Amino acid sequence: MPEVVPTLDPLFFRQLPALSLPEIGLAVVTPWVGDEIPKKDLKRLLEDAFDFPIPLKFLEAGTGVLELFHGPSFAFKDVGARFMSRVMGYFIQSGSRELDILVATSGDTGGAVALGFLDVPGIRVTILYPEGKVSPVQEWQLTGHGKNIRAIAIKGDFDDCQSLVKNAFRDPELQHELRLTSANSINISRLLPQSLYYFWAYAQLMTQGIREVAFTVPSGNFGNIGAGLLAERMGLPVQALVAATNANDTVPRFLRGSEWEVRTTEPTLSNAMDVSNPSNWIRIMELFGRDSKRVRSHLTAYSYSDEETRNGINLLMEMHGYLACPHTAIGWLAAKEHQQKRPGTYASVFLSTAHPCKFPEVYPESWQRKIPEPATIQGWQNKPTWVRTMDSDFTALKDYLLS
Ligand SMILES: *Cc1c(COP(=O)(O)O)cnc(C)c1O
Repeated sequence: MPEVVPTLDPLFFRQLPALSLPEIGLAVVTPWVGDEIPKKDLKRLLEDAFDFPIPLKFLEAGTGVLELFHGPSFAFKDVGARFMSRVMGYFIQSGSRELDILVATSGDTGGAVALGFLDVPGIRVTILYPEGKVSPVQEWQLTGHGKNIRAIAIKGDFDDCQSLVKNAFRDPELQHELRLTSANSINISRLLPQSLYYFWAYAQLMTQGIREVAFTVPSGNFGNIGAGLLAERMGLPVQALVAATNANDTVPRFLRGSEWEVRTTEPTLSNAMDVSNPSNWIRIMELFGRDSKRVRSHLTAYSYSDEETRNGINLLMEMHGYLACPHTAIGWLAAKEHQQKRPGTYASVFLSTAHPCKFPEVYPESWQRKIPEPATIQGWQNKPTWVRTMDSDFTALKDYLLS
């Protein structure tokens, strides 16, 4: 957790509509890294990381979708993973000890991290994912690489994977034997770059004369919305930040006034949000001085069942001809519910977190043939994979990492 959140110069906001994505990145990231990365290197790094578009599309007046899925793994995780991998690649010195990156994934993080680090010398990645709980395309994106990318299917759920990773960081022997680091959103270098697309969306709105915006964020581990809160603290004028979850609704229940109560994680259609103990929540509480009352008055959250998610997917298609992944559909449902409950003159922007091609099995059969399949994943069913299966047992993981 950063000790202080820097604020941006008002001049930056006046220039904002004219800036490109990497230029916004440079302005937003520079106050965090200080002079640890010289400006010209940081600029190159950002241009390399953000070489894909992040379009804001309006479905109707006042409601827009920010598409974050045009990177190589087709999920918004590319934003954080590509920046992080390039920063680590920048700092790793040739000849120094190999860096071991451990990552737990509910589906999308692993794919983005694997692509970000594939073939990077001096770095080895170990991905833990819940066996049978990721979509087939997601699984292929985790297991289809080999080389410096190792995939482990854990007999458990995502929270089990996440706690195995956290245990590894606490283990003195592993700490001593390996140079371990995390690629999950517990790593701050994933969150910082994510805040830049909130500024980017705002820049697009400014060009249309819009100054008030509510962002709705499909949430699981609460990194994405955490990045939005950081953007707000840095000075971005945000009317509201709204979290949208599936049945794993620890946060919505808490914000409605209940105790913080973590229940068993329930598998849903929006599997990348099947998280019941979100690891970024502690950061969000910290941003509000650990004061539940302040968090509750600042953040709003809504949750949706699988049936509501399917309805959302169908309605988006019927009303707007828009094909959304299940996570994105939940974002839209929450945007609509918020507009109804807190009407106002603000524009509503919901974040689209993944491309629908990653979740073909959730759509009616008649749609499946029409889902556009990007060239890089075509034919994946026939390609080789590398994976091992493991019980949710820390000793087994530790032995494997040390072997
Ligand atoms: C990771 C992910 C989410 C949840 O994001 P958090 O930052 O963990 O809250 C939502 N949708 C998709 C498609 C994801 O991959």
